[in-house]
Amino acid sequence: MARCPYPLIFDSHLDLAWNAIDWNRDLKKSVAEIRQREREEQIHGKGRGVNTVSFPDLRRGRVGLFIATLLARLHRPGMTPAFSRYDTMDAAYAATMGQLYYYRALVEQGYLRWITDAESLDAHVNAWLKGDPEQEPLGFILSMEGADPVLYPEQVQHWWVMGLRIIGPAHYGVSPYAHGTGTEGGLLERGPDLLREMQRVGMILDVTHLSDQCFDEAMDLYGGPVLASHHNCRALVPDQRQLSDEQIRKLIQRGAVIGAALDTWMLVPNWIRGQTTPEEIGVSLSHVVDHIDHVCQLAGNCRHVALGTDLDGGFGKEQSPLDLDTIADLQKIPDLLRARGYKEADLEAIFYGNWLRFFRDAWRT
Ligand SMILES: [Zn+2]
Repeated sequence: MARCPYPLIFDSHLDLAWNAIDWNRDLKKSVAEIRQREREEQIHGKGRGVNTVSFPDLRRGRVGLFIATLLARLHRPGMTPAFSRYDTMDAAYAATMGQLYYYRALVEQGYLRWITDAESLDAHVNAWLKGDPEQEPLGFILSMEGADPVLYPEQVQHWWVMGLRIIGPAHYGVSPYAHGTGTEGGLLERGPDLLREMQRVGMILDVTHLSDQCFDEAMDLYGGPVLASHHNCRALVPDQRQLSDEQIRKLIQRGAVIGAALDTWMLVPNWIRGQTTPEEIGVSLSHVVDHIDHVCQLAGNCRHVALGTDLDGGFGKEQSPLDLDTIADLQKIPDLLRARGYKEADLEAIFYGNWLRFFRDAWRT
Protein backbone atom coordinates (compact mmCIF):
# COMPACT_ATOMS: atom_id res chain seq x y z
CA MET A 1 0.00 0.00 0.00
CA ALA A 2 1.32 3.41 -0.91
CA ARG A 3 2.35 5.55 2.00
CA CYS A 4 0.67 8.95 2.41
CA PRO A 5 2.81 11.72 0.95
CA TYR A 6 4.90 13.75 3.33
CA PRO A 7 2.47 16.61 4.13
CA LEU A 8 4.62 19.63 3.30
CA ILE A 9 8.00 20.21 1.72
CA PHE A 10 9.67 23.64 1.63
CA ASP A 11 12.11 24.14 -1.27
CA SER A 12 14.36 27.14 -0.77
CA HIS A 13 15.44 27.61 -4.36
CA LEU A 14 13.38 27.62 -7.55
CA ASP A 15 13.82 29.92 -10.57
CA LEU A 16 10.18 29.72 -11.64
CA ALA A 17 9.71 33.11 -13.33
CA TRP A 18 12.98 32.73 -15.22
CA ASN A 19 11.73 29.38 -16.55
CA ALA A 20 8.34 30.81 -17.46
CA ILE A 21 9.69 33.89 -19.25
CA ASP A 22 13.22 33.23 -20.45
CA TRP A 23 12.56 29.55 -21.25
CA ASN A 24 8.95 30.19 -22.28
CA ARG A 25 7.57 27.31 -20.20
CA ASP A 26 3.92 27.11 -19.16
CA LEU A 27 4.36 26.03 -15.56
CA LYS A 28 0.63 25.39 -15.20
CA LYS A 29 1.17 22.34 -17.40
CA SER A 30 2.62 19.09 -16.09
CA VAL A 31 6.31 18.30 -16.50
CA ALA A 32 5.34 15.61 -19.03
CA GLU A 33 3.44 18.14 -21.16
CA ILE A 34 6.27 20.69 -21.06
CA ARG A 35 8.77 18.02 -22.09
CA GLN A 36 6.51 16.85 -24.91
CA ARG A 37 6.08 20.37 -26.26
CA GLU A 38 9.81 21.08 -26.24
CA ARG A 39 10.49 17.81 -28.04
CA GLU A 40 7.72 18.29 -30.61
CA GLU A 41 8.72 21.88 -31.30
CA GLN A 42 12.34 20.74 -31.48
CA ILE A 43 13.48 23.30 -28.95
CA HIS A 44 17.07 22.20 -28.45
CA GLY A 45 19.65 23.08 -25.83
CA LYS A 46 20.78 22.13 -22.38
CA GLY A 47 17.92 21.05 -20.13
CA ARG A 48 15.32 21.15 -22.91
CA GLY A 49 12.76 18.35 -23.06
CA VAL A 50 13.94 16.99 -19.70
CA ASN A 51 12.66 19.57 -17.18
CA THR A 52 11.54 18.45 -13.73
CA VAL A 53 9.52 21.35 -12.26
CA SER A 54 5.98 22.64 -12.85
CA PHE A 55 3.05 23.63 -10.65
CA PRO A 56 1.13 20.32 -10.95
CA ASP A 57 4.30 18.37 -10.08
CA LEU A 58 5.14 20.64 -7.14
CA ARG A 59 1.62 20.00 -5.91
CA ARG A 60 1.95 16.23 -6.44
CA GLY A 61 5.13 16.32 -4.34
CA ARG A 62 3.43 18.47 -1.66
CA VAL A 63 6.05 21.16 -2.25
CA GLY A 64 3.61 23.74 -0.99
CA LEU A 65 6.08 26.44 -0.09
CA PHE A 66 9.26 27.68 -1.71
CA ILE A 67 11.64 30.54 -2.22
CA ALA A 68 11.17 31.74 -5.78
CA THR A 69 13.74 33.92 -7.48
CA LEU A 70 14.14 36.93 -9.65
CA LEU A 71 17.14 36.24 -11.87
CA ALA A 72 18.63 38.54 -14.50
CA ARG A 73 22.36 38.56 -14.79
CA LEU A 74 24.57 41.09 -16.52
CA HIS A 75 26.63 39.70 -19.36
CA ARG A 76 29.91 38.18 -18.18
CA PRO A 77 32.69 37.61 -20.70
CA GLY A 78 32.93 33.97 -21.73
CA MET A 79 29.59 32.90 -20.26
CA THR A 80 26.67 31.66 -22.34
CA PRO A 81 24.25 34.46 -23.29
CA ALA A 82 21.27 32.33 -22.23
CA PHE A 83 22.39 32.68 -18.62
CA SER A 84 24.05 36.10 -18.62
CA ARG A 85 22.48 38.25 -21.24
CA TYR A 86 22.02 41.87 -20.18
CA ASP A 87 24.51 44.61 -20.99
CA THR A 88 23.05 47.13 -18.54
CA MET A 89 21.69 47.08 -15.03
CA ASP A 90 18.70 49.02 -16.37
CA ALA A 91 17.80 46.05 -18.56
CA ALA A 92 18.36 43.61 -15.68
CA TYR A 93 16.10 45.76 -13.50
CA ALA A 94 13.37 45.77 -16.13
CA ALA A 95 13.71 42.01 -16.73
CA THR A 96 13.28 41.19 -13.04
CA MET A 97 10.31 43.57 -12.77
CA GLY A 98 8.79 41.49 -15.57
CA GLN A 99 9.50 38.33 -13.57
CA LEU A 100 7.96 39.92 -10.48
CA TYR A 101 4.79 40.59 -12.46
CA TYR A 102 4.73 36.96 -13.59
CA TYR A 103 4.42 35.95 -9.93
CA ARG A 104 1.77 38.64 -9.49
CA ALA A 105 -0.23 37.28 -12.42
CA LEU A 106 -0.25 33.82 -10.82
CA VAL A 107 -1.24 35.21 -7.45
CA GLU A 108 -4.16 36.99 -9.11
CA GLN A 109 -5.28 33.71 -10.68
CA GLY A 110 -5.03 31.79 -7.42
CA TYR A 111 -2.06 29.58 -8.35
CA LEU A 112 0.38 31.21 -5.93
CA ARG A 113 0.26 32.88 -2.54
CA TRP A 114 2.85 35.58 -1.84
CA ILE A 115 4.33 35.19 1.65
CA THR A 116 5.80 38.45 2.96
CA ASP A 117 5.50 38.33 6.75
CA ALA A 118 5.12 35.98 9.72
CA GLU A 119 1.32 36.18 9.64
CA SER A 120 0.98 35.14 6.00
CA LEU A 121 3.56 32.40 6.59
CA ASP A 122 1.71 30.91 9.56
CA ALA A 123 -1.66 31.15 7.82
CA HIS A 124 -0.30 29.38 4.74
CA VAL A 125 1.33 26.54 6.66
CA ASN A 126 -1.75 26.02 8.81
CA ALA A 127 -3.91 25.86 5.71
CA TRP A 128 -1.63 23.26 4.13
CA LEU A 129 -1.20 21.10 7.22
CA LYS A 130 -4.68 21.33 8.71
CA GLY A 131 -6.90 22.14 5.74
CA ASP A 132 -7.15 20.65 2.27
CA PRO A 133 -3.87 21.26 0.41
CA GLU A 134 -5.64 20.60 -2.90
CA GLN A 135 -7.61 23.79 -2.35
CA GLU A 136 -4.63 25.93 -1.33
CA PRO A 137 -2.34 27.94 -3.59
CA LEU A 138 1.39 27.17 -3.59
CA GLY A 139 3.17 29.65 -1.32
CA PHE A 140 6.35 31.53 -2.17
CA ILE A 141 8.80 33.99 -0.65
CA LEU A 142 10.45 36.25 -3.22
CA SER A 143 14.23 36.32 -3.51
CA MET A 144 16.75 37.82 -5.91
CA GLU A 145 19.65 35.67 -7.12
CA GLY A 146 22.43 38.11 -7.97
CA ALA A 147 21.90 41.81 -7.19
CA ASP A 148 22.58 42.95 -10.77
CA PRO A 149 19.02 44.40 -11.03
CA VAL A 150 19.43 46.58 -7.91
CA LEU A 151 20.42 49.87 -9.58
CA TYR A 152 21.98 51.37 -6.45
CA PRO A 153 22.03 50.33 -2.75
CA GLU A 154 19.31 52.81 -1.71
CA GLN A 155 16.95 50.99 -4.09
CA VAL A 156 16.70 48.04 -1.67
CA GLN A 157 13.81 49.80 0.07
CA HIS A 158 11.91 50.00 -3.23
CA TRP A 159 12.41 46.28 -3.77
CA TRP A 160 11.15 45.56 -0.26
CA VAL A 161 7.98 47.50 -1.00
CA MET A 162 7.58 45.44 -4.19
CA GLY A 163 7.57 42.28 -2.06
CA LEU A 164 11.20 41.14 -2.21
CA ARG A 165 12.47 39.61 1.04
CA ILE A 166 15.87 38.03 0.27
CA ILE A 167 18.89 39.11 -1.80
CA GLY A 168 21.91 37.04 -2.79
CA PRO A 169 24.38 39.71 -3.91
CA ALA A 170 26.24 37.47 -6.38
CA HIS A 171 25.67 34.69 -8.89
CA TYR A 172 28.22 33.11 -11.24
CA GLY A 173 31.06 35.52 -12.07
CA VAL A 174 31.51 39.07 -10.81
CA SER A 175 28.30 40.98 -10.05
CA PRO A 176 28.15 44.77 -9.68
CA TYR A 177 28.43 44.35 -5.90
CA ALA A 178 30.43 41.21 -5.17
CA HIS A 179 32.61 38.42 -6.48
CA GLY A 180 30.59 35.28 -7.07
CA THR A 181 30.96 31.60 -7.91
CA GLY A 182 34.09 30.78 -9.88
CA THR A 183 35.88 34.02 -9.00
CA GLU A 184 38.13 35.11 -6.14
CA GLY A 185 37.88 38.57 -4.61
CA GLY A 186 35.95 40.62 -2.12
CA LEU A 187 32.99 42.97 -2.13
CA LEU A 188 33.15 45.67 -4.78
CA GLU A 189 32.93 49.38 -4.04
CA ARG A 190 29.17 49.52 -3.48
CA GLY A 191 28.92 46.07 -1.86
CA PRO A 192 29.19 47.26 1.75
CA ASP A 193 26.51 49.92 1.15
CA LEU A 194 24.21 47.29 -0.33
CA LEU A 195 24.61 45.10 2.75
CA ARG A 196 24.09 48.00 5.15
CA GLU A 197 20.94 49.02 3.32
CA MET A 198 19.69 45.40 3.33
CA GLN A 199 20.17 45.23 7.08
CA ARG A 200 18.44 48.59 7.61
CA VAL A 201 15.43 47.52 5.55
CA GLY A 202 15.23 43.96 6.92
CA MET A 203 16.20 42.24 3.68
CA ILE A 204 17.59 38.75 4.40
CA LEU A 205 21.08 37.90 3.09
CA ASP A 206 21.53 34.77 0.96
CA VAL A 207 25.24 33.83 1.01
CA THR A 208 24.89 31.25 -1.78
CA HIS A 209 27.16 32.11 -4.74
CA LEU A 210 29.40 34.48 -2.76
CA SER A 211 33.15 33.99 -3.24
CA ASP A 212 35.01 32.86 -0.11
CA GLN A 213 36.33 36.35 0.58
CA CYS A 214 32.90 37.89 0.04
CA PHE A 215 31.38 35.30 2.36
CA ASP A 216 33.71 36.43 5.16
CA GLU A 217 33.28 40.14 4.45
CA ALA A 218 29.49 39.87 4.21
CA MET A 219 29.23 37.83 7.42
CA ASP A 220 31.27 40.53 9.22
CA LEU A 221 29.46 43.53 7.76
CA TYR A 222 25.88 42.32 7.75
CA GLY A 223 24.21 41.78 11.12
CA GLY A 224 20.76 40.61 9.97
CA PRO A 225 19.45 37.09 9.31
CA VAL A 226 21.52 34.92 6.98
CA LEU A 227 20.59 31.86 4.95
CA ALA A 228 22.19 29.71 2.25
CA SER A 229 19.39 28.91 -0.19
CA HIS A 230 20.97 26.18 -2.34
CA HIS A 231 24.34 25.03 -1.10
CA ASN A 232 26.14 21.76 -0.51
CA CYS A 233 29.27 20.67 1.36
CA ARG A 234 32.81 21.19 0.13
CA ALA A 235 34.00 18.33 2.33
CA LEU A 236 32.04 15.97 0.04
CA VAL A 237 32.46 17.80 -3.28
CA PRO A 238 35.62 19.90 -3.36
CA ASP A 239 34.77 23.10 -5.21
CA GLN A 240 34.47 26.75 -4.30
CA ARG A 241 30.72 26.59 -5.15
CA GLN A 242 30.25 24.46 -2.03
CA LEU A 243 30.48 25.52 1.64
CA SER A 244 33.58 24.62 3.62
CA ASP A 245 33.08 23.12 7.08
CA GLU A 246 34.32 26.40 8.57
CA GLN A 247 31.71 28.34 6.61
CA ILE A 248 28.99 25.88 7.68
CA ARG A 249 30.02 26.35 11.32
CA LYS A 250 29.83 30.13 10.95
CA LEU A 251 26.38 29.84 9.41
CA ILE A 252 25.22 27.56 12.22
CA GLN A 253 26.45 30.11 14.78
CA ARG A 254 24.35 32.75 13.05
CA GLY A 255 21.21 30.57 13.15
CA ALA A 256 21.23 30.07 9.39
CA VAL A 257 19.48 27.32 7.46
CA ILE A 258 21.24 25.72 4.48
CA GLY A 259 19.19 24.29 1.61
CA ALA A 260 20.70 21.15 0.03
CA ALA A 261 20.85 21.44 -3.77
CA LEU A 262 20.04 18.60 -6.17
CA ASP A 263 22.22 19.72 -9.09
CA THR A 264 24.40 16.64 -9.61
CA TRP A 265 27.69 18.47 -10.06
CA MET A 266 27.25 19.73 -6.49
CA LEU A 267 26.28 16.29 -5.18
CA VAL A 268 29.20 14.09 -6.23
CA PRO A 269 32.86 14.83 -6.92
CA ASN A 270 34.42 14.70 -10.38
CA TRP A 271 31.26 15.59 -12.28
CA ILE A 272 32.09 17.30 -15.57
CA ARG A 273 29.19 19.46 -16.72
CA GLY A 274 27.99 18.57 -20.21
CA GLN A 275 29.88 15.25 -20.12
CA THR A 276 29.16 13.12 -17.07
CA THR A 277 25.77 11.40 -16.97
CA PRO A 278 23.81 10.43 -13.84
CA GLU A 279 23.90 6.79 -15.03
CA GLU A 280 27.66 6.48 -15.37
CA ILE A 281 28.42 8.12 -12.02
CA GLY A 282 25.43 6.58 -10.20
CA VAL A 283 24.25 9.75 -8.49
CA SER A 284 21.02 9.37 -6.53
CA LEU A 285 18.90 11.06 -3.89
CA SER A 286 20.94 9.26 -1.24
CA HIS A 287 23.79 11.64 -2.14
CA VAL A 288 21.50 14.53 -1.17
CA VAL A 289 21.04 12.81 2.17
CA ASP A 290 24.85 12.63 2.50
CA HIS A 291 25.03 16.43 2.31
CA ILE A 292 22.10 16.87 4.70
CA ASP A 293 23.75 14.45 7.11
CA HIS A 294 27.10 16.24 6.91
CA VAL A 295 25.53 19.54 8.03
CA CYS A 296 23.64 17.75 10.81
CA GLN A 297 26.86 16.11 12.04
CA LEU A 298 28.65 19.48 12.12
CA ALA A 299 25.72 21.12 13.94
CA GLY A 300 25.09 18.21 16.29
CA ASN A 301 21.39 18.56 15.46
CA CYS A 302 18.96 18.83 12.53
CA ARG A 303 18.13 22.51 12.92
CA HIS A 304 20.25 24.04 10.18
CA VAL A 305 19.61 22.04 7.06
CA ALA A 306 16.74 21.79 4.59
CA LEU A 307 16.11 21.37 0.87
CA GLY A 308 16.96 24.04 -1.72
CA THR A 309 16.72 21.95 -4.84
CA ASP A 310 17.56 24.38 -7.70
CA LEU A 311 15.91 21.76 -9.93
CA ASP A 312 14.87 24.35 -12.55
CA GLY A 313 18.20 26.19 -12.47
CA GLY A 314 19.14 25.73 -16.12
CA PHE A 315 19.26 21.94 -16.22
CA GLY A 316 16.94 18.95 -16.17
CA LYS A 317 17.08 15.19 -15.77
CA GLU A 318 20.50 15.07 -17.43
CA GLN A 319 21.94 16.76 -14.32
CA SER A 320 19.62 15.40 -11.62
CA PRO A 321 19.72 12.32 -9.36
CA LEU A 322 18.87 9.09 -11.19
CA ASP A 323 15.89 8.29 -8.99
CA LEU A 324 14.26 11.68 -9.57
CA ASP A 325 11.97 12.07 -12.56
CA THR A 326 10.17 15.21 -11.42
CA ILE A 327 10.27 17.37 -8.32
CA ALA A 328 7.40 15.23 -6.96
CA ASP A 329 10.06 12.58 -6.25
CA LEU A 330 11.33 14.66 -3.34
CA GLN A 331 8.77 12.46 -1.60
CA LYS A 332 11.38 9.66 -1.74
CA ILE A 333 13.71 11.55 0.60
CA PRO A 334 11.73 11.00 3.84
CA ASP A 335 12.25 7.22 3.67
CA LEU A 336 15.95 7.68 2.85
CA LEU A 337 16.33 9.75 6.01
CA ARG A 338 14.33 7.25 8.07
CA ALA A 339 16.60 4.47 6.83
CA ARG A 340 19.57 6.40 8.24
CA GLY A 341 17.97 6.71 11.64
CA TYR A 342 16.39 10.13 11.36
CA LYS A 343 13.30 10.49 13.53
CA GLU A 344 9.97 12.06 12.53
CA ALA A 345 10.80 15.27 14.44
CA ASP A 346 14.07 15.49 12.45
CA LEU A 347 12.18 15.05 9.18
CA GLU A 348 9.74 17.77 10.12
CA ALA A 349 12.64 20.13 10.85
CA ILE A 350 14.38 19.33 7.56
CA PHE A 351 11.32 19.43 5.30
CA TYR A 352 9.75 22.63 6.60
CA GLY A 353 10.22 23.28 10.32
CA ASN A 354 13.67 24.85 10.09
CA TRP A 355 12.57 27.34 7.44
CA LEU A 356 9.44 28.20 9.42
CA ARG A 357 11.51 28.94 12.51
CA PHE A 358 14.04 30.91 10.46
CA PHE A 359 11.50 33.18 8.78
CA ARG A 360 9.39 33.65 11.91
CA ASP A 361 12.53 34.78 13.76
CA ALA A 362 13.70 36.94 10.87
CA TRP A 363 10.37 38.69 10.50
CA ARG A 364 9.60 39.09 14.18
CA THR A 365 12.57 41.40 14.68
ZN1 LIG B 1 22.11 29.33 -8.13
